[in-house]
Amino acid sequence: EEIKEKLKEDHDITNVSYKTWIQPMQVADVDNNTVTVVLNGIEEEQRQLIDFVNKKYRFILQVTIEEVTDFACNVVFVLPGDLEKNHTSAAEPSSAPISSPYSANLNQKYTFDTFVVGPNNKFAHAASLAVAESPAERYNPLFIYGGVGLGKTHLMHAIANFILRNNPDARVLYVTSEKFTNELIDAIRNKNSISTFEFREKYRNIDVLLIDDIQFIIGKEGTQEEFFHTFNFLHDNQKQIVISSDKPPKAFETLEERLRSRFEMGLPVDISAPDYETRMAILRKKEEMEGYNIDNEILKYIATNIKSNIRELEGALTKITAYSKLYKTDITQEVAEEALKDLISPNQVKEVTVDTIIDTVSEHFHLKPADIISQKRNKEVVFPRQIAMYLCRYMTESPLQMIGKAMGNRDHTTILHGIEKIAGEMQENENLKSTIDILKKKIMPG
Ligand code: ADP
Ligand code: MG
Repeated sequence: EEIKEKLKEDHDITNVSYKTWIQPMQVADVDNNTVTVVLNGIEEEQRQLIDFVNKKYRFILQVTIEEVTDFACNVVFVLPGDLEKNHTSAAEPSSAPISSPYSANLNQKYTFDTFVVGPNNKFAHAASLAVAESPAERYNPLFIYGGVGLGKTHLMHAIANFILRNNPDARVLYVTSEKFTNELIDAIRNKNSISTFEFREKYRNIDVLLIDDIQFIIGKEGTQEEFFHTFNFLHDNQKQIVISSDKPPKAFETLEERLRSRFEMGLPVDISAPDYETRMAILRKKEEMEGYNIDNEILKYIATNIKSNIRELEGALTKITAYSKLYKTDITQEVAEEALKDLISPNQVKEVTVDTIIDTVSEHFHLKPADIISQKRNKEVVFPRQIAMYLCRYMTESPLQMIGKAMGNRDHTTILHGIEKIAGEMQENENLKSTIDILKKKIMPG
């Protein structure tokens, strides 16, 4: 917005032109030095208007962007339809796919551009970028560790993609540790075309080795040994090594000391679970990349409920979109809840409220909730009421005053009396104890 304002001011753009052309512009992507700008509101039939916008605004927009951001760039205008048609190319506009034999097992979407940086991963991100910019000069090995679905593989591919883009001749080998293990086993058995000699050639004639999920190698004697030699060979020859793992080097109990100290001599960096803001930013990024258009409230709903795994976060978005396409319905809160019920509700602990307790207790004793909170003093009502008080005390965070208020405006000494009465009776009355247990289970299943 700042750029748009400045453009208008510096270049005397009239209000009408501004509203027609400049205001609807939106940045779709920034990649290296190419900024892709969507010309919202222009239809496919009016495609020739891109030429007009190019002639009239492209240069001054580039200048203004540079003035505001200190970032010299090349602006490319596209129509909104272009993004839907081919969002992968819109996401990486300037760069043709990397053509290197080493990019075969790399996901080209896993780049630094598509990686959202938050407090949980900023250290890992910075170290990865440093390694990508100058392999074997900074942190060697770089050891990235963290839980499932938090972005380790994404960062490793980003490093590899970055190096190959900068230097298509670089020999950058990304492997999972399963693949490493399987190839080694095949080599030893010499069953497949690859022999032990070829195996060593393959893993030693490279500039960068990225080995993902190393925990699968640790403890497998032969594989671990071979990896140790590969590691040493590459390291001694100033080649970059990047390792990922689900835990830090020091947590590998069976890891030989010599390997552990090798892992630790570079830089171990961790990725932890993202906070709410980062989860929202990841959802927005994903939404933008896939060309979805999802209400902010729905994104908030997802970010609030899915906390510990980014793969699931993305999965939620895909599920909702698929669901709405399948049933040809808009994405509303109800649709989102329905589409995500498997993902969200089962492991959600529902919060116990005073009202739930009153409802459950009254039902159990064949009363009405109104009876519990009434002023009636007959035993059939007083006893369940006291049980409800007791359960509220132990199953909710509500202070006594609040419980009292919810239970027909009773003061907190009345509530305390009820609680103590039940607690005392439970000492000697097995029946009451089991009633309480049953009620607890009804209130909070599982
Ligand atoms: P890990 O290897 O740690 O299990 P992945 O790298 O496979 O996790 O990440 C799981 C999914 O989440 C991938 O699709 C990845 O692109 C995405 N992801 C993880 N971290 C981020 C991030 N910071 N920004 C954007 N996407 C992310
Ligand atoms: Mg992974």
